[in-house]
Amino acid sequence: AETRVLTIDGPGGAGKGTISRLIAEGLGWHLLDSGALYRLTALAAERHEVELDDEASLATLASNLDVVFVPDEGGSLVLLEGDDVSREIRTEQAGDRASQVASLPRVREALLKRQRDFLKAPGLVADGRDMGTVVFPAAPLKVFLTASAEERAKRRHLQLREAGQDASLPSLLKEIQARDARDMQRSVAPLEPAADAIELDTTSLTIPEVVERVKDLLAQRG
Ligand code: C5P
Repeated sequence: AETRVLTIDGPGGAGKGTISRLIAEGLGWHLLDSGALYRLTALAAERHEVELDDEASLATLASNLDVVFVPDEGGSLVLLEGDDVSREIRTEQAGDRASQVASLPRVREALLKRQRDFLKAPGLVADGRDMGTVVFPAAPLKVFLTASAEERAKRRHLQLREAGQDASLPSLLKEIQARDARDMQRSVAPLEPAADAIELDTTSLTIPEVVERVKDLLAQRG
């Protein structure tokens, strides 16, 4: 059978990570957390003392990333050069640095093949910003998940608290808005829905409700 792909794009905190993982688990499909690759590139830069504006060196780091994703209960363990960095890459600071390296065309280019390599039978759920527009433009079902910035800040706040990290709600909201602006305004692969994407506003939906809707869409036209 043909290998299938479902792309789930949208701004940070819209629930893409959780939704993508639940759908992939439910279908027995592979999962691509593309944001993690940008986060890992930024972390590798820190480790190898590469500045975040040194595009050539960052692109080299990105193409040589030594990364292993190990499926784990409720998420996945992420190893960078053999070290478990699962928590380290999830901080707000790591996300902010990721968004800086993600604005560099040569870094994006370097990560393109690595992302496409995740496509394996029976199927792939690809989570990111440009999965439907750039990485898997032929995907038969593209979902664009949104939620208001306030709601996303609340969700991030909860998520961080559960992970034992502290953050103030107003500063999270500011960071989310700054990251949205950077992701939408960059010249390469800006955050925007693919022309054929289905937009789903999750502001007042629960996680199981979103999962159900996406599964319905997949049944209709995946
Ligand atoms: O989704 P996540 O918050 O882990 O992504 C971190 C950052 O990586 C985003 O703010 C965005 O700048 C960048 N990113 C991207 N393209 C993707 C996934 C993430 O530019 N496909």
